[in-house]
Amino acid sequence: MTIAKPGPTPVPLTEPFWAAARRGELLLQRCRSCGHHQHYPRMLCTRCWCRELDWVPSAGKGRVWTFTVVHRPGHPAWSDDVPYALAIVELDEGPRLLTNVVGLDPADVTVGLPVVARFTEHGDSTIVQFGPEYS
Ligand SMILES: [Zn+2]
Repeated sequence: MTIAKPGPTPVPLTEPFWAAARRGELLLQRCRSCGHHQHYPRMLCTRCWCRELDWVPSAGKGRVWTFTVVHRPGHPAWSDDVPYALAIVELDEGPRLLTNVVGLDPADVTVGLPVVARFTEHGDSTIVQFGPEYS
């Protein structure tokens, strides 16, 4: 029996992020007052509490900030995918994203590894993962 993988559940606050991902674009929120970039999406700037936030494109480049290799998934739908790398990637713009590092053996993932965004169809959604710059 195949179990469907749960996907994102966009809400009005996060819909611009998911719509951009479907276009192959990574968007971040940027504060109009202080210029701070942030992710995940929020109603106000986490630095100055300004409520005027714009969606701006990210270059989609960063480095692995930390990671783990998952051998026992938290949901049975990913049982066939183990082992995989679950990571926090720090973007060049500053925000950190919880994501997967794909395109290489999970045993080869290292802290500081340069990575770029990759967009993977996932049911009706597109999820943002990261892979090495060279692949
Ligand atoms: Zn701000």
